[in-house]
Amino acid sequence: MLEIKNLHVKLEDEDKQILKGLNLTVETGKVHAIMGPNGSGKSTLSYVLSGRDGYEVTEGSATMDGFDLLEAETEERAAEGLFLAFQYPVEIPGVSNMTFLRTALNAQRKARGEEEMSATDFLKMVREKAKTLKIDGDMLKRPVNMGFSGGEKKRNEILQMAVLEPKMCILDETDSGLDVDAMKLVSDGVNALRSEGRSFLVITHYQRLLDHIVPDVVHIMANGRIIKTGGPELALEVEKNGYADLLAENA
Ligand code: ADP
Ligand code: MG
Ligand code: MG
Repeated sequence: MLEIKNLHVKLEDEDKQILKGLNLTVETGKVHAIMGPNGSGKSTLSYVLSGRDGYEVTEGSATMDGFDLLEAETEERAAEGLFLAFQYPVEIPGVSNMTFLRTALNAQRKARGEEEMSATDFLKMVREKAKTLKIDGDMLKRPVNMGFSGGEKKRNEILQMAVLEPKMCILDETDSGLDVDAMKLVSDGVNALRSEGRSFLVITHYQRLLDHIVPDVVHIMANGRIIKTGGPELALEVEKNGYADLLAENA
């Protein structure tokens, strides 16, 4: 599914190397977690994969089922099935969440050469998904993210995922200060959307999140690279001992 090889990334406007030969493979249907100290480049990785401006890839590759992510426009990546949570955090006055989701979905379908979904079919589909995820129908009518609480934004993120049906979901929860309720929302949502054809890359500071979203694989990232890979027990080890020993082993 996702295959990253020897990825080197620097800031576009500065002589600062952030990713320094990162290797990562996420298999189809698996949930991988990335943990690591602040500043190790976790968010940069998610930005680069989704195509945010400001970063320059100097070496290496990133493909999704063979599709070259790094050469593609952000919209093409989305159409191929890549989803970055908080890709759409903007508040849009006057545009209902429902309209926004339908526009996003149809843009992706169009890019894939598929027919647009009718308003009626969309309404039916989105209502069903909202119901399954226990998301209040009211949220569909409200303007996108306007005045949403932290928890509502999280719910919306899960709803976006459910509607767009991506095959690769990247969630960067590092700096969002998840409280216990939000953590539960995110983990329930991810668990509900886990499926054979869908992979997740969950980036987090919080071992606790991984008690709820039990990952198949845990990676520790430091200084622009994955320095250790293991099972869920690796997250517990980090929780107990911190990163110091791991960093020393890799110094
Ligand atoms: P993490 O998510 O692991 O905390 P980041 O990817 O946010 O790490 O940041 C990695 C390093 O790159 C940090 O030193 C950060 O300050 C720097 N960095 C990332 N993006 C930028 C940017 N746009 N401008 C300046 N520094 C950046
Ligand atoms: Mg940070
Ligand atoms: Mg971060």
